[in-house]
Amino acid sequence: MNPLSSLLAALDFAARKHSKHRRKDADRTPYVNHLIEVADMLARAGVDDLATLLAAVLHDTVEDTATTLAELEQRFGAEVAALVAELSDDKSLPSDERKRLQVEHAAHKSAKARLVKIADKASNVKAMVTAPPHTWSWERRMEYLDWSDRVVAPMRGANAELEAEYDHWMAASRLALNHEKNS
Ligand code: ZN
Repeated sequence: MNPLSSLLAALDFAARKHSKHRRKDADRTPYVNHLIEVADMLARAGVDDLATLLAAVLHDTVEDTATTLAELEQRFGAEVAALVAELSDDKSLPSDERKRLQVEHAAHKSAKARLVKIADKASNVKAMVTAPPHTWSWERRMEYLDWSDRVVAPMRGANAELEAEYDHWMAASRLALNHEKNS
């Protein structure tokens, strides 16, 4: 399959798998918007490796849908499946433990998985200011930003443009939260 066909097939696959999922903002944005944004952030930062872009589109399929790694391997190849495996939390663990492990595992991720992970965090941090989870308290949103920084810190040096995009949205989110607190 040519690269464009593969990318479109991955978008189609992810859109179907996540069709009933919504983001946590007040407008209940379709989940697939996040997946497209993560891939777009990577592409705009100059990442043109196909496996990385496919993993970006598919990064939440195993964690959040009934998709198996075997299914990803069969459709998109072993490298993409291995990257998605690197990017999937073990959902049998409690949420606090999963958050702790994301920080611990960040330093050991492959170069390609790091790129997707930083773009994923950039998209989520961007959402804190552009489309915040409407049921989250101020403290919970601030805690999310602090945790996100702890996950990203050990992965720095992966891609300067991507990290600049992450930093931009982190600064904007912190500014908005501080403004909210003082208003
Ligand atoms: Zn994600």
